Amino acid sequence: MVKQIIPKNLQEALNYLYDGDYKVIAGGTDLMIQKRNTADLLPKFSSNMLYVFNLEELKYVIKEDHQIRIGSMTSLETLLHHPDVPQLLKDVILDMASPGIRNMATLAGNIANASPAGDSLVPLYLMDAIIVLSSIYQNRYIPIEKVIIGPRKTVIQQNEIIKEIIIPNHDVTHYKWVKVGGRLADAISKVSFAGSITIEKEIVTDLRIALGAVYMTVIRDRSIEKIFKQMTIAQLKEDLPTLLSHYEDLIKPIDDQRSNKEYRLKVALNLIKDFITKL
Ligand SMILES: Cc1cc2nc3c(=O)[nH]c(=O)nc-3n(C[C@H](O)[C@H](O)[C@H](O)COP(=O)(O)OP(=O)(O)OC[C@H]3O[C@@H](n4cnc5c(N)ncnc54)[C@H](O)[C@@H]3O)c2cc1C
Repeated sequence: MVKQIIPKNLQEALNYLYDGDYKVIAGGTDLMIQKRNTADLLPKFSSNMLYVFNLEELKYVIKEDHQIRIGSMTSLETLLHHPDVPQLLKDVILDMASPGIRNMATLAGNIANASPAGDSLVPLYLMDAIIVLSSIYQNRYIPIEKVIIGPRKTVIQQNEIIKEIIIPNHDVTHYKWVKVGGRLADAISKVSFAGSITIEKEIVTDLRIALGAVYMTVIRDRSIEKIFKQMTIAQLKEDLPTLLSHYEDLIKPIDDQRSNKEYRLKVALNLIKDFITKL
């Protein structure tokens, strides 16, 4: 029979993870669906479960000079209403699920679930988020794109927990978030896009593009972004076909029940085009 443990604090949670084979459960909004049973029966958990959602010490948003730090058990709904959370992340959270789910769901669960369509991953890639993985031995600080290594695959070790998400300050002159789903709320993305740009005296000093649900992981390519930095905004617009061709080479979507490859590719390129042409 599987054990179900509610640790009193983070240290106790880490001790359990060190001692035995436990699966961390936060809000449970992904896990309860993945392990669902027939009506009225408990979910079919096959491993020991460690319930960490109630760990108050992991519920915080702390603003510092150059970054904000988000405790991993802060609910999405709390983040949505917190004054220090970047507006881009709030815009994305508002498009995720519904208030009931958002009251339980966490960024950590969205990250560890590692779905290419995980909505919060797109702004977290865009803003260079650092994920803090804790074990009894150490804290590891890893950029999000190195934490997620494939669909449902991460580098999180069995004895580790996501303790914190760090978002460096990201001041921009323009940004855009678009989620394309089957309906307005409670929809999984067919394609998602976040772009940000900083323009100083007509010069592009920073350009970032992140795309969700069109590859095995979220796409963010700094080498492409770099080509277009230091251009004037007019040059960037003129060179849009080149920019699009770079992303066309990267985008490798799949067909699934929500959409098909052709649609996803076309929409992703249109979202980039729309972002640049409307600057
Ligand atoms: C109706 C509905 C609508 C949804 N809509 C959206 C949507 O619009 N966009 C979207 O992206 N997702 C959506 N989801 C999916 C889900 O709500 C999110 O992925 C959510 O962020 C998961 O967080 P959680 O805390 O519930 O994770 P859980 O279900 O608790 O866990 C998910 C995974 O993360 C691991 N995990 C959780 N916390 C930690 C931690 N601290 N350290 C290490 N591993 C951890 C768990 O072991 C598990 O593998 C929806 C789900 C439902 C049921």
